[in-house]
Amino acid sequence: MTQITLRRPDDWHLHLRDGAMLQGILPESRDFARAIVMPNLVPPVVTGDDARHYRDRILAALPEGQAFEPLMTLYLTETTEAVDVAAAHASGLVKAVKLYPAGATTNSASGVRDLEKVRGVLETMAEIGLPLCVHGEVTDPAVDIFDREAVFIERVLAPLRQKTPGLRVVMEHITTRNGVEYVKNGGDDIAATITTHHLIINRNHILVGGIKPHYYCLPVAKREEHRLALREAATSGGTSFFLGTDSAPHADAAKESACGCAGCFTATNTMPLLAHVFEEEKALDRLEAFASLNGPAFYRLPTNETTLTLVKRETPSHFPTRIETGAGPVTVFDPGFPVHWAVA
Ligand SMILES: [Zn+2]
Repeated sequence: MTQITLRRPDDWHLHLRDGAMLQGILPESRDFARAIVMPNLVPPVVTGDDARHYRDRILAALPEGQAFEPLMTLYLTETTEAVDVAAAHASGLVKAVKLYPAGATTNSASGVRDLEKVRGVLETMAEIGLPLCVHGEVTDPAVDIFDREAVFIERVLAPLRQKTPGLRVVMEHITTRNGVEYVKNGGDDIAATITTHHLIINRNHILVGGIKPHYYCLPVAKREEHRLALREAATSGGTSFFLGTDSAPHADAAKESACGCAGCFTATNTMPLLAHVFEEEKALDRLEAFASLNGPAFYRLPTNETTLTLVKRETPSHFPTRIETGAGPVTVFDPGFPVHWAVA
């Protein structure tokens, strides 16, 4: 097969940042009709009003002709008010609430330390069917960074879901076999996003032969067995797994530093990379489920009417090495192998 046409995909986990960075990188999501936009700005997007203003800034930064709908999220804090969340949801503005354990990743200092303090919000969300997106890592310094997802499931997620029946949860950017198994066996109220880069790299890519800051992200890539489990889940066609790129731009100076920021920037080339991965797994016919169908089904939104066509060419595709933005250059994720797929 040299060509495949899908319903236009959506990105169910995207960082668009703000200001000059937003302006510079928003066009790179051109292959997607919609995206769940992460709220971890500084200061974070906490209230319905914050989300409305952020949405306006995104729409103002959108280039002419790019059809793109930002799906807004709220950053859950210990002072978030259930009535505000419910109103933002009822107005159609907000499609999810994001739980960051305090200190887990970029700009997560305002996150939740004590889940009991957000119990009322979670119960309201369960009632109205508003999904909770979770960054699934514990922040306990005693837990090894490679174990933080597995420990989160045991210590936080399973008890949280047990205490809040009906709460719909998206476990974001899963990176482990443990995550895959938990979601697979977790019933209809749980799903997971999987990133492009976690289907391609394992922890060796970050650490062998010199440290590669552009492969460093959170949750950090794990052992090869976990990458293989993610590939199996993504290409299985199973409705609980869908694409969330977690494309997370940082200016190169902030990545290539003694204390580099976490995030891979994959918006530019995600769809060709996924075509490559799905073809390798002999699952090209399931790419549409992963990128275009399973996400809207979980979020109870219509699928897109427009389409996206990918073609496979003799010569490898050329993707930009970096995107120039007013906030500095942003390096595009390099899979480390030639990719022959391109968006037509
Ligand atoms: Zn993220």
